[in-house]
Amino acid sequence: MNAADRKAIVLMKSWGKPSRRLTIALSAATVVMLAAGGTIAYAATAPQPAIKTFTPKSANQITNLDVLRQQIRNYYGDPLGTGTFAPDSSYAKEATSVALAGERWLAAHHRVHGKQAIILDVDDTTLATWNYEVASNWAFNPTTNGQFVTGQLFPAVPGMVDLVAKAAKEGYAIFFLTGRPAAQEGATLGNLTMDGIGVDAGYVGPTTLSDGEDGLFTKPAIVDYPAYLKATCASDPNGSCTTIHYKSATRAHIESLGYDIVANFGDQFSDLIGGSADRTFKMPNPNYFLP
Ligand SMILES: [Mg+2]
Repeated sequence: MNAADRKAIVLMKSWGKPSRRLTIALSAATVVMLAAGGTIAYAATAPQPAIKTFTPKSANQITNLDVLRQQIRNYYGDPLGTGTFAPDSSYAKEATSVALAGERWLAAHHRVHGKQAIILDVDDTTLATWNYEVASNWAFNPTTNGQFVTGQLFPAVPGMVDLVAKAAKEGYAIFFLTGRPAAQEGATLGNLTMDGIGVDAGYVGPTTLSDGEDGLFTKPAIVDYPAYLKATCASDPNGSCTTIHYKSATRAHIESLGYDIVANFGDQFSDLIGGSADRTFKMPNPNYFLP
């Protein structure tokens, strides 16, 4: 942990709007430490921002935002910001390296008997939204983002199609769990798999669960919450599940049907904390932070 991060305070809770995408520059190690229960020094006076960090004494302690954007473009092998990341970029190498670690883990923990599963987030875990980050200049807007989603414009995250194909071949059930709303389910499935519209990322399709549920979990409207979400999220703001509650309760529901989730893949810490997975894998994403 570096000196700046040492001062950083992050609460992995949302007092604000859970759907807002915010940009921060904390080291992954610090967020992990804090998510694991590190010291929280802020007085809990409402309202609080969703992301808490230290207050710089000097601008020198902050990466200039335009410089940071350029560093991120360079990381994606796209220094001119065309919206297409390069296959030999640092991003592609890092994502592939996580995918390969996942493949090794799954091969080593595969059993002949029992219902084993993997679970994967969608945005920036299986589908890369780099083109949208560039198009939006990192300012998430549900309308313009929806155009990319319904146009099925996102390519696969490097290494992940191969990982999912190998896992399916080994007998793992394949489940996708995304915060995208239920209205985007068809377009999400079409982008992930092969439907001839927009980009077909080439993933093996989701596995139908033993109780007949489809294995692509999108976030329902509150009125449509299944009992396990209602129970878990009753005291969340406006009764709407936080990401952590939505995802962890869904994983617990899947495991209650007899599946062992052997690996959980996500690009946000809110995809990964909350249990119900033997191991988590963090995909790289320097573009936004979802509490
Ligand atoms: Mg994601």
